[in-house]
Amino acid sequence: MTESAALEVATTFAELNLAPEIQAAVESLGYVHPTPIQQQAIPLVLAGRDLLAQAQTGTGKTAAFALPLLDRIKPHANTSTSPARHPVRALVLAPTRELAIQVYDSVVEYAKNLPLRCTCVYGGVGMQEQEAALRAGVEVLVATPGRLLDHAGNKLVQLNQVQFLVLDEADRMLDMGFLPDLKRILALLPKQRQSLLFSATFSDEIVRLAQNFLQNPMRVEVARRNTAAETVEQVAHKVPEADKLEALLRVVKVRDLAQALVFTRTKISADKLGRRLLKRGLEAAIIHGDKTQVDRLQALEGFKQGTIKLLVATDIAARGLDIVELPAVINYELPYSPEDYVHRIGRTGRAGASGLAVSLVSADEDKLLAGIERFIKRELNIVPLPSPASPPRPAVSPEETESGPAATLPRRRRAEPVCALLMPPPQSQLAGGQ
Ligand code: AMP
Repeated sequence: MTESAALEVATTFAELNLAPEIQAAVESLGYVHPTPIQQQAIPLVLAGRDLLAQAQTGTGKTAAFALPLLDRIKPHANTSTSPARHPVRALVLAPTRELAIQVYDSVVEYAKNLPLRCTCVYGGVGMQEQEAALRAGVEVLVATPGRLLDHAGNKLVQLNQVQFLVLDEADRMLDMGFLPDLKRILALLPKQRQSLLFSATFSDEIVRLAQNFLQNPMRVEVARRNTAAETVEQVAHKVPEADKLEALLRVVKVRDLAQALVFTRTKISADKLGRRLLKRGLEAAIIHGDKTQVDRLQALEGFKQGTIKLLVATDIAARGLDIVELPAVINYELPYSPEDYVHRIGRTGRAGASGLAVSLVSADEDKLLAGIERFIKRELNIVPLPSPASPPRPAVSPEETESGPAATLPRRRRAEPVCALLMPPPQSQLAGGQ
């Protein structure tokens, strides 16, 4: 089942022969060249194949599945007001509401010239608005598994006409314990369908999941197994636990970081760190699973606008954040799971630009560090904390790495201010989402 895709690659979207409405939408977003995952995946999905795709957030993976799916559903597009004429034809499952919203916003953009309905359902908000959208009928449904099952249990959504299933960030779904939910959802879908599985990492569990969910899939990869983006400078500083706050402030100052995403392992330490940063007068915000949806969206919005300098996040809350080209990620605490390390640093160095991942490692995290190094198959560069007098230089410039810049989006000029590189606030999110 691990056929690899040996295809002639399209270097422009025009060569992918997408429907004119979709091509126009892509053009209006300023996309010119398909990214590597798009080059590989789009023709395969158009040809009706199942896909097992390895791609991190930031590689353009959403368009890689959304564009060809929309193209395939297009014959069913209609302007009828009858709900019966708008059954769910494509179901996209995402592990977190942030990712679900982000995928939904992208799909809405890609489908804007087609009379296709799209909606997004996720937990943590009231059911009513979502119920109304489902009752009216929707062709493309983006959902987190638990909330989808709630709606299905209430008979608000029928999934027996789903032709396309996408599991986005499948590794994260397994980490979050969604396997039983996924199995229940699968039981509601027709056996005859096209299924696409996207995952940042390929563990044995993912391969097993793929065997259950996919039929004779083509396998596409844009990053090597368990490797972090090549363009990310990864350094670690050994710091006693009690000195981590000062170390963090020093890194931000000496490296002159305009913004950084700062990871903690737990919600409690995220809260504690956020409070301490605010006390020190830094523009900080916190996102984690216990924050309300409004709080999370506000924090994210502040970060995108540049008014928030340090966004403190837990691993789960940070999944799927649509932050393009974030210059730095700081691991204030190392994650328990090495895969989370790869996800974390996948937040920086995106879009082919160079990024920075700094880990502050206390003595009792040495084992976690060793686990990460085994997983990414390289040792982190352990260096003393930068001193205020001598700003550090990158250990290796992106051009000097083995395989050059990561196979992701076209390079952007580094001089652009961060906030200009971030997505504009999606109106639907500010208004409280679907
Ligand atoms: P994703 O990996 O799907 O989260 O996409 C990351 C970002 O890249 C999103 O902001 C997309 O709008 C953007 N993007 C996706 N495909 C392209 C492309 N071919 N050219 C330029 N930007 C793109």
